[in-house]
Amino acid sequence: FGSELDGQVAIVTGASSGIGSATAESLASRGASVVLAARREGELEELAATIEDTDGDALVVPTDVTNDDDIDNLVEATLDEYGRIDILVNNAGLMPLAHIAEADRETLQTTIDVNLTGLIKLTHAVVPTMMEQESGHIVNLSSVVGRFLQANSSHYNAAKAGVKMFGDSLRLDVAEAGIRVATIEPGAVDTELLEHIPDDEVQQNVKDYVGTMDALAPEDIARTITFVVTQPQRVDINEVLIRPLDQV
Ligand code: NDP
Repeated sequence: FGSELDGQVAIVTGASSGIGSATAESLASRGASVVLAARREGELEELAATIEDTDGDALVVPTDVTNDDDIDNLVEATLDEYGRIDILVNNAGLMPLAHIAEADRETLQTTIDVNLTGLIKLTHAVVPTMMEQESGHIVNLSSVVGRFLQANSSHYNAAKAGVKMFGDSLRLDVAEAGIRVATIEPGAVDTELLEHIPDDEVQQNVKDYVGTMDALAPEDIARTITFVVTQPQRVDINEVLIRPLDQV
């Protein structure tokens, strides 16, 4: 690995598992100081220890992206420790798929709060620092379902399509301040995501579907994100749709 990200500071939300964990490790291996944010502090501490074992630098900041105080604390803790924010990977998410008639209101609310509102609020909290720096990179995790339809997923599809539209609109406001915005749209990735589908039958159906393919590994997305944030400043990769070969 090179050291293209030496001296850069990256916040990664949802760093306690899956894509976020792999991304934090990948960015740290390129020299970035990584700020690990999610609710499960034990997992974050374990990841920080792994990163530090290989001479990387990590800061753990337990964060619930649906909590405004946690969002403010995440930004403050990062600035106190490092004084800058170069990269924000808005990865925290959950996918509690359900038929609209079967979903409870809390599920609908949480889906939007975590996947969309939390992402917008954290971006809002980070952008002033990036504007002052006249540089920054915001990477938002949308999904293949931000573009294509999927049954039992209307609330999740709405959130992920919202992420894509938010990023593309945001770019118009921040590009002239040197801030780049990327939307990552993964297909099936082998993570804990499916475990949070509340309905057993829906969960099994999705697992059966994903089981028909050679799903992506979290490291595949981590490598993609690392590629996106290691381009020269003039290069703004707007959008990456990345699916398993057999997910067509
Ligand atoms: P995981 O379930 O492994 O990871 C989700 C992460 O989000 C966890 O670290 C979790 O941490 C965190 N998270 C959930 N709720 C909150 C919250 N309220 N505040 C802070 N962090 C939270 O799944 P993936 O790695 O697969 O998912 C990562 C992203 O990729 C998500 O946005 C997902 O929608 C997206 N994606 C995934 C695909 C897949 O097939 N796996 C496909 C397309 C997109 P904790 O519980 O500790 O808070």
